[in-house]
Amino acid sequence: MSLCQSKNTSCGACCGIFNLDLNKEEINDLLNLRTSQFKSDVDFKNKWTIAEYRKKREIEESYVLRKDDTTYVCPFLGFIENKKIGCMIHPSITGDPLSQNFSFYGSSICQGYECKNKERKDIDLIENLIEELKIDSYYEYSNIFSDHITLSLILEFFNSCGYDIKKVLFEEKDLFLELLNYKFKKGILLNQTSFEFEEATELSILDRLLFRLSIDLKEDIYKRLLEISKNPLRGF
Ligand code: SF4
Ligand code: SF4
Repeated sequence: MSLCQSKNTSCGACCGIFNLDLNKEEINDLLNLRTSQFKSDVDFKNKWTIAEYRKKREIEESYVLRKDDTTYVCPFLGFIENKKIGCMIHPSITGDPLSQNFSFYGSSICQGYECKNKERKDIDLIENLIEELKIDSYYEYSNIFSDHITLSLILEFFNSCGYDIKKVLFEEKDLFLELLNYKFKKGILLNQTSFEFEEATELSILDRLLFRLSIDLKEDIYKRLLEISKNPLRGF
């Protein structure tokens, strides 16, 4: 198990799927289409069929609008197990350690890339909250776990008030979960690939968090954040 492939769900953001200007249902339909086409067209004994599949899908998907034209969308992301998405040419599936060389990025990048959330040393503490986050699909899971900007802002905010991650989860777990889930309440998909960076700004950490999640000053959650920022932990 890893952050990319957790027990019941998985993330595929860095393979570019959310860069397509499609809604949740359309993304799901596309992943189903890729998966069935891959199963019917690709024969690992005839390696050229992998290259053919990629060529065919890239042409078919070239008509879908990209949110960012410079970010590649890899057609090898599909369903690999029940409702879990993943790399259909991963060595654990193909039996070939270099099979991802048929992709645009190549094996070394596909296997070596770690998004900023995957690099966090305490990410397992947050992963343990999956059930409480009420995540029911790869779509929500990818959106939360590839979004290192939002997670960093939340943790940085609490840190500025004297809370380390363990203290946040012990004392302010409900607020932390609400902040992580907040973008779904607002219907915004914030991170498309995990490659995004927050633009440099002079704003305070509280204002950056409010701006990121489009939190209005009339909302109760704002009042709660303000209260915490005005009453940092004693000794801090
Ligand atoms: S964005 Fe991060 S968690 Fe998601 S698949 Fe890529 S490396 Fe894994
Ligand atoms: S080949 Fe690389 S980019 Fe494509 S789905 Fe697999 S891991 Fe993602």
